[in-house]
Amino acid sequence: MRCFKHNDAEAVGICRNCLKGVCKECAIEVKNGIVCSDSCAEVINAYKKEHPVRAQLYLPILFIITGGAFFYYSYEDKNLRLLSFLGIAFWGIGIRALFAIKKTITTSKKS
Ligand SMILES: [Zn+2]
Ligand SMILES: [Zn+2]
Repeated sequence: MRCFKHNDAEAVGICRNCLKGVCKECAIEVKNGIVCSDSCAEVINAYKKEHPVRAQLYLPILFIITGGAFFYYSYEDKNLRLLSFLGIAFWGIGIRALFAIKKTITTSKKS
């Protein structure tokens, strides 16, 4: 296979984004292979970054929902008043985790 830009150059690999053949000169290294251009590198990098953050969001949201459920039950039944303390604890953990994720998003955008 030949490079998509240089017809006389042998391709050393395939761009991970657009699947074109790229020669040694055109190849840009990314985490799991090579890409043909800066814009393709951006697409690959953005894809890698976004997914772990989205997965991280599930846990704090789950904590906040569970905390809300504890508040609801403690409000409905006076015998379950203690559950509101658990609700506060769950919200605390969930909100702290959310802020930690927010921090990682803003720092990764800067770099
Ligand atoms: Zn490409
Ligand atoms: Zn080339």
